[in-house]
Amino acid sequence: MLRWLRPASQVPTVVDIDLIALQTRGIRGIILDLDNTIVPWGTREVSPLLTGWISRAQNAGLRLCIVSNNMGARVTGIAAALGLPIVTGALKPRRKALRRALSVMGTTPEATALVGDQLLTDILGGNRLGVHTILVRPQARREFVGTRLARLVERLLLRGGPVSR
Ligand SMILES: [Mg+2]
Repeated sequence: MLRWLRPASQVPTVVDIDLIALQTRGIRGIILDLDNTIVPWGTREVSPLLTGWISRAQNAGLRLCIVSNNMGARVTGIAAALGLPIVTGALKPRRKALRRALSVMGTTPEATALVGDQLLTDILGGNRLGVHTILVRPQARREFVGTRLARLVERLLLRGGPVSR
């Protein structure tokens, strides 16, 4: 079980992801979590650093798709502002929405990376699907109460051993 919760790599934030290194390992598309991965939880705060990173990824030929367990006008508005496709109400760690993202991007699991801030939704779902999982640090401390509970479980799991390889 713990194996499924282990990200393939970890970086501080999404803009720290090395796009060239991803392409070198055959990655052609990136699934992005929304809250606390590309914007602080519950906000519409898209940073210039993020838009710059997205442009670099797209210019390098990478496909991007947001997959969020949340839904509504805020979530779809962010995707529209960034010009990216989005799958909402995703129910991660279930794989159905992640598979839809693959079909949107036209990629296979082997050619796809997933970036997220939560082990029990993003990383677990991504590992079960067989994509290259990348864990980022959550952007904000303010979070949905259910997420805070999940963090507690994550800390307990992390105490069981190193998450990075
Ligand atoms: Mg998140």
